[in-house]
Amino acid sequence: MQIANFINGQYLPPHENRYFDNYHPATGQVSGRIPDSTTEDVALAVQAAQSAFPAWAALSLEKRHDILRAVSEGILQNLDQLAEAESADSGKTLTTARTIDIPRAALNFKFFATALLHFASESHHQPGVLSYTIRQPLGIVGCISPWNLPLYLFTWKIAPALAAGNCVIGKPSEVTPLTAHLLGEICNAAGLPPGVLNILHGTGPGVGAAIVAHPEIKAISFTGSTRAGADIARVAAPMFKKLSLELGGKNPNLIFADCDYDTMLETTVRSSFNNQGQICLCGSRIYVERSLYDRFKHDFVEQVKQIKVGNPADPANRLGAVVSKMHFDKVLSYIELAKQEGGTVLCGGHALSLPGDLAGGWFIAPTVIEGLPTHCRTNQEEIFGPVVTIQPFDTDEEAQANANASPYGLSATIWTNNLRRTHYLTTQLQAGIIWVNTWMLRDLRTPFGGVKNSGVGREGGWEAMRFFSETKNVTMEM
Ligand code: NAD
Repeated sequence: MQIANFINGQYLPPHENRYFDNYHPATGQVSGRIPDSTTEDVALAVQAAQSAFPAWAALSLEKRHDILRAVSEGILQNLDQLAEAESADSGKTLTTARTIDIPRAALNFKFFATALLHFASESHHQPGVLSYTIRQPLGIVGCISPWNLPLYLFTWKIAPALAAGNCVIGKPSEVTPLTAHLLGEICNAAGLPPGVLNILHGTGPGVGAAIVAHPEIKAISFTGSTRAGADIARVAAPMFKKLSLELGGKNPNLIFADCDYDTMLETTVRSSFNNQGQICLCGSRIYVERSLYDRFKHDFVEQVKQIKVGNPADPANRLGAVVSKMHFDKVLSYIELAKQEGGTVLCGGHALSLPGDLAGGWFIAPTVIEGLPTHCRTNQEEIFGPVVTIQPFDTDEEAQANANASPYGLSATIWTNNLRRTHYLTTQLQAGIIWVNTWMLRDLRTPFGGVKNSGVGREGGWEAMRFFSETKNVTMEM
């Protein structure tokens, strides 16, 4: 399929008419062409957004709500087509796309359509003085998203940006552009006025960097690698743009002997390998209290060996392909590194060769490694694939120190029934999101984001609505 830019409500070729190939991760074959957009395409999209902005910002809240709600419904009406496109483009299983990615994309629009009706601002009173706060749309904002949860994370940004009354220049990952391409039609059918949402395709250093550098784009909401986040901050900070950076992670999973074992085990298999381990919240460093270590190691490895990897379209398979050849090579290189660093591969540790059409696909067996120290590269650097390490600990202090011994700080998981320990650790762990006796249980009203190299800013609920608004204070003497 040939992808096109979506500007001013129309599908357009890129200004320079250059394209690059899109790939199908399950076969390794070329599946279509992606526009290699440039500064000129950004300029055109900004022009369209500038024309659309006054009317969109002035629209009544009810009308804005109705349109965003209709986008949500349009996504659900196209669930099958979107799920097939997402699975084909990213290598994730069709089941994952059907039950997680696409329903969540619809929910993002539904949630923020409703949020805008309830979004309010503060007033502050003292004798003779009234101050009140106005929150106005910023104007035109840029939303740049990654490949691991393509439509899910793209809509997680553009829905609040639109709900707050902004016009958007969105850029999905060049690795998974298909569902963002399909979203344009859905927005037109929902009655979103032309120019309110513009979607540009292309590379990060190309069109992504051009979006960040454009002076009329007032804020950048970015989810992706820490490296790209740093590049974006270097360009945007001197222009004093608002920045929300949701970056990489290397999340610890702390398992104490007093946990509910069966729930922990089942969830830990999911939190390690769902979506081929390509979720920013996956727990890739598993620390287990020593008294439980041997039992956990045995049961975990047995369960991981049972995971079926294969054709993403076959519902019998729990894992599909990793997203690209580059990522496939990167993950395999980290498994080699782990061996060089002295790790023992307990299961997996290799690519999988599948028959027929899938022979060229990028499949990796889920991999569990033990015997590595906390500070080795395998335990410090983000792999973002189906690879986890396991390591025993003896005391709460050691568990805490291991968890925090990372340049990242996105999320952490704790498995324990000890209330005092839970409260203490949640204050001590260096992470923006902490799960206790669960994983990936999301409430869209809660603040979402990381500390340290995992980023700055928070998404979700009012945090997102405030990020996409300019705050103005008015004080009057009475
Ligand atoms: P990436 O940084 O390579 O790309 C992300 C997006 O940014 C893409 O659209 C890309 O084209 C664009 N981009 C790249 N360089 C750019 C630049 N200089 N200027 C503007 N845009 C640029 O990341 P990826 O490989 O697509 O995604 C995987 C990464 O995303 C992992 O590090 C993962 O942890 C992270 N991630 C984080 C979260 C979170 O919420 N913190 C969620 C999902 C993924």
